[in-house]
Amino acid sequence: MPVRVRIAPSPTGNLHIGTARTALFNWLFARHHGGEFILRIEDTDLERSKKEYEENIIEGLHWLGLQWDNEHIARQTERLPLYRSYLERLLESGAAFWREYTAEEKADMERDGRAARDRVIALTPPSDPERELAFDDQIRGRVAVQAKHVGQVVLAKDLDTPLYNFAVVVDDLDMNITHVIRGEDHISNTPKQLLIYEALGATPPVFAHLPLILGPDRSKMSKRHGATNIADYQADYLPEALVSFMGQLGYTYDAELLSLDEMAKQFDLARVHKSGAVFDQTKLNWTNAQYLKRLPPATFKQLIGKPDLPDSAVPIMTERLERLTDIAQFSYFWEEPEYESALLSWKDDAPEVTRAALELCADLAARGELNQPALDAAALEQFAGKKGSVYWPLRVALSGRQNSAGPLEIAAAIGSERTQSRIQTAIHKLAT
Ligand code: GLU
Repeated sequence: MPVRVRIAPSPTGNLHIGTARTALFNWLFARHHGGEFILRIEDTDLERSKKEYEENIIEGLHWLGLQWDNEHIARQTERLPLYRSYLERLLESGAAFWREYTAEEKADMERDGRAARDRVIALTPPSDPERELAFDDQIRGRVAVQAKHVGQVVLAKDLDTPLYNFAVVVDDLDMNITHVIRGEDHISNTPKQLLIYEALGATPPVFAHLPLILGPDRSKMSKRHGATNIADYQADYLPEALVSFMGQLGYTYDAELLSLDEMAKQFDLARVHKSGAVFDQTKLNWTNAQYLKRLPPATFKQLIGKPDLPDSAVPIMTERLERLTDIAQFSYFWEEPEYESALLSWKDDAPEVTRAALELCADLAARGELNQPALDAAALEQFAGKKGSVYWPLRVALSGRQNSAGPLEIAAAIGSERTQSRIQTAIHKLAT
């Protein structure tokens, strides 16, 4: 049977980094085997599901490059007649029954603020509760639990209101899903789902439960560890970088920077780690920096919205940039710097010293000789060997900042004309 896997997000929140990583591993598995990757929106929870979350999920997967193969995205709310027919079948055969709530249970529901109802559709308990329910997890090995520990399996609130465990089984069967690859947080649902497959007389798919993503303190990754919404990464990171980084959350490849295709080529479920994967922000930033450096200058300039910058400015920026929004620190490449004149003087240099240094720079620049040997020689001869007395004012004049790319690098990138005019501006500033 050809491999067919799915990502089945519930649109009750934005695309979570954990869901994106699950989608990625499914996508890689499908591509490795030449199979199909299906997107199914699990929107049966009508109260919490929102169209805007669905849109966020779709956009996020798209941005990451995790294209799904189904032309029409499956939505559970569009499939209610299917679940109904399965429920009727189970009720008829006696594999499921209408379970009446007791008065006491109804009172409990009301007290918990849940709408009280008279009855639900539940799975008829297995006749042999001593039996073991087991599956061969492709990552974790054999997982087994006693049937009696599984508890009651509620399938639906009524014929038109299926619940997660039931709808997911019907869908996975109906869509011929061969492998269910999902987060470890679902592992306790799997025995319930096995019972549903059994009641339907169907063979379950193969299961694989991915290790959770953890924060640096090894607790489950949450907002307090950093952004969990993929959309929050979009302004700062390249999708190639995020994908390469996420692919290594629970997997070791033979390289640190990998494209989707490179990962797909190697991907093997049996090599997914069993233990949780720690989210390392420093590594993500490093990864992003590497991909930024690889971008063609025109692409980079487009990305930061500065298509007119000289190409020579690009490597100066990508050499130092980790996150795209940090680009603001390089604003001196596209606008005149603003700064206080006091910033121009190196340490306790007197204004006359600074002025002399800037005039020297202006002179050299006018002659096309603003370069390191000339500045070093001047520092030695005229500024008591203090390079800072010369380079610092030049840096501030050109960048307006105390931390910047090297002043000569900036001068080369912005060109002689702008270099000269910025030095003149600095000389004027000093005088006022
Ligand atoms: N809707 C479930 C979720 O978002 C899908 C779980 C599954 O893959 O079976 O977690």
